[in-house]
Amino acid sequence: MVSDVIIIGAGISGAAIARELSRYKLKVLLLEKEAEPAFGVSKSNSGIIHAGTQNPPSSLKGWLCVEGNRLICTQIASDLGLDFVQCGQLIVVFDLADLPELEKIKKEGEELGVKGLEIVDRAWLDKNEPNLGPEVKAALYVPSAGIISPYRFVYALVENAVKNGVRLLTSRRVTAIRRKETNGFEVVAGGEVFRARFIVNAAGLFADEISALAGAPTFKIVPRKGEEYLLDKKREHIANHIIFPLPSKTSKGVLIIKTSDGNPMIGPTAHDTLDKTDLSTTDEGLAEVLAGARRMIPSISAGDIIAYFSGLRPVAGKDFIIRHEAAAPGLVNVAGIQSPGLTSAPAIAVMVADILKAHGLKLDLKEEFHRLRPRPVHLFQVSPEETRQLIAKNPAYGDIVCRCELVSAAEIRDAIKHGARTLDGVKFRTRAQSGRCHGGFCTTRIMKIMREELGFPVTAITKRGPGSELIKDERQ
Ligand SMILES: Cc1cc2nc3c(=O)[nH]c(=O)nc-3n(C[C@H](O)[C@H](O)[C@H](O)COP(=O)(O)OP(=O)(O)OC[C@H]3O[C@@H](n4cnc5c(N)ncnc54)[C@H](O)[C@@H]3O)c2cc1C
Repeated sequence: MVSDVIIIGAGISGAAIARELSRYKLKVLLLEKEAEPAFGVSKSNSGIIHAGTQNPPSSLKGWLCVEGNRLICTQIASDLGLDFVQCGQLIVVFDLADLPELEKIKKEGEELGVKGLEIVDRAWLDKNEPNLGPEVKAALYVPSAGIISPYRFVYALVENAVKNGVRLLTSRRVTAIRRKETNGFEVVAGGEVFRARFIVNAAGLFADEISALAGAPTFKIVPRKGEEYLLDKKREHIANHIIFPLPSKTSKGVLIIKTSDGNPMIGPTAHDTLDKTDLSTTDEGLAEVLAGARRMIPSISAGDIIAYFSGLRPVAGKDFIIRHEAAAPGLVNVAGIQSPGLTSAPAIAVMVADILKAHGLKLDLKEEFHRLRPRPVHLFQVSPEETRQLIAKNPAYGDIVCRCELVSAAEIRDAIKHGARTLDGVKFRTRAQSGRCHGGFCTTRIMKIMREELGFPVTAITKRGPGSELIKDERQ
């Protein structure tokens, strides 16, 4: 099959682009090297839908962030049934001498179109954010920021894109790209050859390698590692907003982050590394994050931490690179998508559609575009009365598999029906295995359900794709 567009990479960028292009009468193929979407940078971040502040007014990422925030708040979160909460953010200062810095962030944010910014004093903070430490003197209140589950955001976009005709192929690592003499490309992935007129390169940390394969070695990705530490759910109400310090030159600083699943998070660090696979966490990172977080909320302690991870920001200079490459006509790069890439993705997708159109792709709207996606049930988000009603309709909602996070067999079967093929895929969609016991009690039950639903043996069930099998068949 010849596609109009092949999108390489099913992270938030590729997923949003796929959904945007699925509005039009196009053949779109989404290729992902991992076993499932959202296994790259898009799974390891802070899950903040930024307002747009802390970006230079002239930057591409600044205006895409503001537009992405607007699209998520006004359309996408409700259309796709996302668990988005607009909780607002505070950027705090520890010295009133830093107030001019806050004024500068406010002015720059307003230039970008961020609404409702207000400098608030200690009396306001005592009333609205009572756990802040005594060092905090004032803050910039940013009401339009919010939180989301980053992987469920990707899954919702991909699912809706597929419903609208996009073809998704996972476990297809792109290893070669040949440009045809007339026009278009041949893309080799997982041993198969796919043809398309246009390629959109949304390969995250590997976007520089894909661009070079297509004949445009025009930039280099330098990963910037961020370590994050998740706190126990019992600290859920430690903060009412996402809390930031003043930003540094390379990052927004160590934050206290509310998450859409309840567990607060502290982090991230920001240190450049040369290794695109280094997802380690370190004692130094932990010390840096704890010190930064405790300066804002002193009651946070190391004992609150139940899990940690790190993510790598795909940095290619100061701004995003979103452009058609003259050196490889037909190639559109979506690269250097560091923070706020999660927020900007819906706006990036619209921009990419415009670039493709400007380079000859015909964008005719389909007669029917399925805009809506039903919100999946998460027992941890519903009231006891709603739970009773669900169990009355389907007793599998009463069969609790993950006790830490209150996830039922019905939700796990539903996640598999919606595309989960690995234990991490089930975890990211449902939260089963995410609690304090880290799957100690529920993993074997989940494997049994996967075997029943998917019809393959437990020895073929992996944590995150080939090589991460949990059970070995000694007879082989
Ligand atoms: C610690 C941290 C915190 C962050 N916090 C926030 C935040 O709070 N808010 C926010 O807006 N942004 C945040 N970000 C930024 C955000 O996570 C990224 O901008 C975004 O996830 C990038 O998405 P992507 O789709 O471009 O890349 P990815 O998610 O990495 O997707 C690229 C995909 O391409 C696939 N791929 C790569 N090579 C190939 C190949 N050869 N063949 C086929 N497929 C391939 C990968 O497997 C991957 O799935 C944060 C980032 C980090 C690291």
